[in-house]
Amino acid sequence: MLIPYGKQWISDDDIAAVVEVLKSDWLTCGPKVDEFERSIADYCNAKYAVAFSSGTSALHGAYFVLGIKKGDEVVTTPMTFSATANGAVYCGGIPVFCDIKSDTLNIDPAKIEGKINFKTKAIAITDFAGQPCDFDAIKEIAEKHNLLVVEDGAHALGSEYKGKKVGSLADLTILSFHPVKTITSGEGGMVLTDNEQFARKLKTFRHHGIVKKPEIGPWYYEIEELGYNYRLTDIHCALGISQLKKLDKFVARRREIVKKYQEAFKDIPEIILIKEESFAKTAWHIYPVQFDLAKLKISRKEIFEKLAEKGIKCQVHYVPVHYMPFYQKTFGYKKGDFPIAEKYYDQAITLPLFPKLTDEEVEYVIETVKEIINVNKN
Ligand SMILES: *Cc1c(COP(=O)(O)O)cnc(C)c1O
Repeated sequence: MLIPYGKQWISDDDIAAVVEVLKSDWLTCGPKVDEFERSIADYCNAKYAVAFSSGTSALHGAYFVLGIKKGDEVVTTPMTFSATANGAVYCGGIPVFCDIKSDTLNIDPAKIEGKINFKTKAIAITDFAGQPCDFDAIKEIAEKHNLLVVEDGAHALGSEYKGKKVGSLADLTILSFHPVKTITSGEGGMVLTDNEQFARKLKTFRHHGIVKKPEIGPWYYEIEELGYNYRLTDIHCALGISQLKKLDKFVARRREIVKKYQEAFKDIPEIILIKEESFAKTAWHIYPVQFDLAKLKISRKEIFEKLAEKGIKCQVHYVPVHYMPFYQKTFGYKKGDFPIAEKYYDQAITLPLFPKLTDEEVEYVIETVKEIINVNKN
């Protein structure tokens, strides 16, 4: 048996949708881009959606339209993929990390205000594992200090906060369609917003900053602000549209698998489970657990390797962003700065979770984990 931690699910209808575009006149900048944007916006209850070449370029676009400039501070979480913070750095911004809650692993709203000063421009949250942050609490802080909220929803397409879809909450929400994410377009990303001005600027930003001026000539354009080529092709968008039709089915299966895991592990004192808040309906992009190492006589690395020997190829989400040499060199962060994120990281392993995982495979993972714990208890 060989079970990865995550995997896409591509079917014949996805393949047919891509082939259809390949035979058409538009490989990029065509109708499938608009259709994908409209479909995602409608699904998430956002007014506008702008497709990008990746979640990372979508983050760059979000920070750009928000007006992040040299020296501006963005309060964000160290427990995320580094792209959340990198996007602010691309614009000259300074990521100011704020520790997480030990039970949900999301940024701790109670600690955000202590990080805000006159240089702060935005709060950037990540819905870790797909579970929405406590958005009302964060919104209240943002409004009090006149800040905007960027939500890195790369894990959270299909998740709900108090019955509202992720993508309809923050000033700007970004999504990723990398193959390990809930649906894929190969590579790809999206920014969601209700702000028309932001949407217009995002479209310009992803296309070199080009603004057409037909009043001067049909060919004429100007670049007032520097943009990039961050476009997503119609080929990618066709795959995304086809995958989106299956999103609810994928999410239902992910929730079913997580329920099985949580049930199976809940009475094992050596395992610390992630908590799902009552306000959250989580699409579960990943399933991270912690092994309480004080109760075990093996290390996290040994557990990880034993699982791999049994064909269970896990991951760890994430090495905290403030551990990255770039962040330490550039901003002076060091180990010890965010003890809750660090303690979680030391004990964390992400177990396999993807919709195509069978009940037998889930059972095999559960039994293997239990067996490793049983022979290595303190
Ligand atoms: C995947 C991911 C990204 C980046 O998305 P790409 O499409 O790979 O560029 C950003 N943030 C988080 C939290 C992610 O998981």
